[in-house]
Amino acid sequence: MKALGIEGTAWSLSVAVVDENDVIVMESDPYIPKEGGIHPREASQHHSEKIGELIKRVFEKVPPEEIDVIAFSQGPGMGPCLRVVATVARVLALKLNRPLVGVNHCLAHVEVGRWKTKAKNPVTLYVSGGNSQVIARRGNRYRVFGETLDIGIGNALDKLARHMGLKHPGGPKIEQLAKNGKNYYELPYVVKGMDFSFSGMVTAAQRLFDSGVSKEDVAFSFQETAFAMLTEVTERALAYLDLDEVLLVGGVGANSRLQEMLRIMCEDRGAKFYAPPKHLMGDNGAMIAYTGLLMFKHGHVTPIEESYAKPDFRIESVEVNWE
Ligand code: AMP
Ligand code: MG
Repeated sequence: MKALGIEGTAWSLSVAVVDENDVIVMESDPYIPKEGGIHPREASQHHSEKIGELIKRVFEKVPPEEIDVIAFSQGPGMGPCLRVVATVARVLALKLNRPLVGVNHCLAHVEVGRWKTKAKNPVTLYVSGGNSQVIARRGNRYRVFGETLDIGIGNALDKLARHMGLKHPGGPKIEQLAKNGKNYYELPYVVKGMDFSFSGMVTAAQRLFDSGVSKEDVAFSFQETAFAMLTEVTERALAYLDLDEVLLVGGVGANSRLQEMLRIMCEDRGAKFYAPPKHLMGDNGAMIAYTGLLMFKHGHVTPIEESYAKPDFRIESVEVNWE
């Protein structure tokens, strides 16, 4: 069985076809802001201009008749972007006369990670631009055990990078700078119970930079502090839930220092650490296609009248009736 999936919750516009075993084709055309961060209206305009071409390229490799299900990222994300994706998915489903499945974007990160790493029942650390959550399954739901109280870690990295004159996306640039950092400067370490927060840290790190501290030292201090917070909460979730697998997903998961910290923590606890290949870590169409396929095979279908955008779609609201 084959599913076509469309991702377009924010900067990433990506269309893929998968079957049960692998990704068959994936075509992507990311929105890259000329300056500043992601502007929802501009991003949605980009999506509506480029989506037709991407779908055409996908259909050249897999003819539309071979597709059994149409899946799309229904939320969470930026309203204008979500509406473009939902509209296109609806049109495809109607035109091809195929079922439609609205997919929760966070759930898709978790499921594509499990698919490609073979992790069974992990504590998932999902770290991206807009989201930062510690997720684990309990019965027939995924639950969020800890999350950011303000901005996502990716967003925090991007803001700090922008303040230091670096272009979007800033995460990879901060990673490179941090490798040459020599001095650690203390920044607010904000973990409250199982939740954490980054915006105070961003302001403090921006002030450090303004006071003359080098970009390298600011980047290093920021990464060490923020990633330690994420690792602490992930470890606590492992302990509370008595689990022994950690899965890292989301664009920030590509960061080698974050991976290293989590790996060390896992080794200390006798847990296994998993991370999917980089092209499936950030937002991508394959994760939506795969999760749509999984859901469809377990009876989930989204009627057209319920296929509206859900900017605040929570992972807990999806019933998980698969293994
Ligand atoms: P996503 O929303 O999951 O696609 O992730 C996008 C975010 O990942 C952006 O905020 C990027 O700056 C961030 N990112 C990408 N690569 C890295 C990296 N190597 N280190 C830190 N952040 C990264
Ligand atoms: Mg994401």
